[in-house]
Amino acid sequence: MKEFEAVFDIMHQPSHQELISLAATACGLPASKVRECHIIRRSLDARKKPIYRYRVAAYSTDDESYKEYHFDYKNVSEAPEVIVIGGGPAGMFASLELLQKGMKPVLLERGKDVHSRKVDISAIVRLSKVNEESNYCFGEGGAGTFSDGKLYTRSTKRGDVFEVLHQFVKFGAQESILTDAHPHIGSDVLPTVVENIRKCILYHGGEYYFGTKVVDLVEPSLAGSHWKVLCSDGRVFTAKNVILATGHSARDIYELFAAKSWALEAKGFALGVRAEHPQSLINNIQYGGRWQQGFPSAEYSLVQQVDGRGVFSFCMCPGGVLVPSTTQQDSVVLNGMSPSSRSGKWANSGIVCSVEPEDVQGFEKYGVLALLEFQRSIEMQMYSASGSFAAPAQRMMDFCRGKESQSLPKCSYAPGTISLPLHELLPAFVADRLRKAFALFDKKMHGYYSQDALLLGVESRTSSAVRIPRA
Ligand SMILES: Cc1cc2nc3c(=O)[nH]c(=O)nc-3n(C[C@H](O)[C@H](O)[C@H](O)COP(=O)(O)OP(=O)(O)OC[C@H]3O[C@@H](n4cnc5c(N)ncnc54)[C@H](O)[C@@H]3O)c2cc1C
Repeated sequence: MKEFEAVFDIMHQPSHQELISLAATACGLPASKVRECHIIRRSLDARKKPIYRYRVAAYSTDDESYKEYHFDYKNVSEAPEVIVIGGGPAGMFASLELLQKGMKPVLLERGKDVHSRKVDISAIVRLSKVNEESNYCFGEGGAGTFSDGKLYTRSTKRGDVFEVLHQFVKFGAQESILTDAHPHIGSDVLPTVVENIRKCILYHGGEYYFGTKVVDLVEPSLAGSHWKVLCSDGRVFTAKNVILATGHSARDIYELFAAKSWALEAKGFALGVRAEHPQSLINNIQYGGRWQQGFPSAEYSLVQQVDGRGVFSFCMCPGGVLVPSTTQQDSVVLNGMSPSSRSGKWANSGIVCSVEPEDVQGFEKYGVLALLEFQRSIEMQMYSASGSFAAPAQRMMDFCRGKESQSLPKCSYAPGTISLPLHELLPAFVADRLRKAFALFDKKMHGYYSQDALLLGVESRTSSAVRIPRA
């Protein structure tokens, strides 16, 4: 295999034939001796005239390192069952892995199928009502369905990322995710992908149950006997092996573990706000004023140490919208998602500060769940300040100056905003660091600290505040 770089105008998508000829030149071979070539990575270089830099892998006809991805899902109707609790990304991919290993996944999901879920999600805005079992976090595809679908990790610690990307493509994601430096699927494509994964599980003999909330787990009394998995409607499932894939919003599962004195560890998470700018402003900064219609919406990634803690941008959504991702009726929690085109008017990102166990005082009585209760209390405080799902909001400049905003700019958050002093609603150790960070971010991205930038509270579900240690 030989890797080489090719540079193309941002508006030009090279054909396979073009790449084969370039590969032949790079390898010093006739085109007929190039077995295959594929783009490993595409990255945008907007330092001067915007271009795409492609990293291309070329394989000659006698190259044995060429890896093709084949997925051999077995018929598992009669195979040993494994209960998978949770139909988010972890539960779906665990189920696909079981199919490949010849075991039968029995997937239990508390929420609804992706279509019914859309109705519940729209009710958050239409009726100010959160279905606590079917929302932006719970339901088919978990928190990954209505998201940006960013797939940025290139970590090889837990296996081959490309295997996951190829499976996503197999189930309906766009092929560009195999090559983009920052691949993302988009909230308009993800529902089809997760539905196709379910169809594959069922087609190969697996089982998939919606509206099936697990409320208790009973350990096998003898080695080699079965776990009992109890559901809220009284159904009981049994299997020798159970995979718990309930995600970080399933607080009731952590409470269950704590009640049973099963191993749990408190862990730090990150807390802050969602910052929203006009996408045109971010394009202007990142492309140095050279953005044109047809160019991809610009992204950003910011990180800064402030007073011994990291303040960083999280889950930046170019051309995206802000969504109410609470799982309970009396809380305000925001997250961001974007469609595959990322063509919306706004750019949003979490701007968060890490929170460690020693920061949280007054929650000691909750033991290992102290940080989780702290997280919950902040979300509920946002709701009681606003009196609805409308998000407490403040212009970035007013936040930094410590004054309430007299007016708020338009924004993408459908439940609306209400001018409130976020600098007081957030814990002081978070608000102070964010304030300092915004000034420093502006040095890296001049214009980021702007009168048009709006902050909305609260971004609190960056990661779990509890860890279930691996045995
Ligand atoms: C709006 C939004 C945008 C996001 N954007 C991105 C992004 O662009 N890129 C990215 O990498 N990450 C993103 N994330 C985070 C990402 O979605 C999560 O990290 C990921 O979904 C975690 O996968 P999971 O399977 O571990 O858990 P989850 O996705 O949380 O899935 C857990 C599933 O288990 C089910 N469940 C919970 N408890 C029970 C129970 N007791 N019984 C039965 N079922 C249960 C839930 O209903 C849920 O479907 C986003 C999250 C949100 C909310």
